[in-house]
Amino acid sequence: MPEMPEVETVRRSLIAQVKGRKITHVEIRYPDLITGDVDQFVEFVTGATISDIGRRAKFLLIHLNNGYTIISHLRMEGKYRISADPSAIDKHSHAIFTLDNGQKMIYNDVRKFGRMQLWNTDDLSDNKSLKKLGPEPLSAEFTFQNLKPRIMRHHKDIKTVLLDQSVMSGLGNIYVDEVLWKVKLHPETPSNHLSDEDIQKIIEASNQEMDKGIAAGGSSIRTYVDATGHKGTMQNNLKVYGKEGTPCPRCGTEIKKIKVGGRGTHFCPKCQVVK
Ligand SMILES: [Zn+2]
Repeated sequence: MPEMPEVETVRRSLIAQVKGRKITHVEIRYPDLITGDVDQFVEFVTGATISDIGRRAKFLLIHLNNGYTIISHLRMEGKYRISADPSAIDKHSHAIFTLDNGQKMIYNDVRKFGRMQLWNTDDLSDNKSLKKLGPEPLSAEFTFQNLKPRIMRHHKDIKTVLLDQSVMSGLGNIYVDEVLWKVKLHPETPSNHLSDEDIQKIIEASNQEMDKGIAAGGSSIRTYVDATGHKGTMQNNLKVYGKEGTPCPRCGTEIKKIKVGGRGTHFCPKCQVVK
């Protein structure tokens, strides 16, 4: 599942390829992809120019010059591909945006979980999906003052709480496991047992992991590629995610995989302690 570094990588590769291009034709092949009225989506997007591409946590924001923004969430397997080659379109291509340079921006999604929604750019903060997002790493809002009350009001395990996008946003299963290993916290530690220092460390580690992930072009654990088809290399930097049965890079103890809140969770039973 693409997390913040993967979505940021997609954003950057899309900007380089489609910013400033006019969308001359829109074809929606899988209507459920669109949240809201499909005909209206097609009508409003056709003829508009892509003025910029932003991001909020794991949401791509494709800004149009007509005052609307396409909010795009890739979920499990969504991908954009830019190509003029008709063979780039297959049965998994659910939205096809033809651009004024003859290229097509093709949205592919094998599992069909991704969604797009058209929204007034000026009112993005009112959008239900965006509104509930907590602060994201590397942003001005990602501060101890903002994060502490959001984390401490939960009695649930810290793994589940950090995955909750309303607490903090952008991190998914991979990066939460990495952050908890880095700060030496057992994923089943109740959130309200954390010290101020723990929270401070989580903030620092989250920023570092996101920075590293973006610099590496994301991690290609499953089938993630950016909009030019490149794979990221962050998977080579991971310390615990997917490493069950191998030695902890810090202490040599075997990395374990357990379920926490229903999610596969990787951790070192020696250097990550329950508080
Ligand atoms: Zn260890």
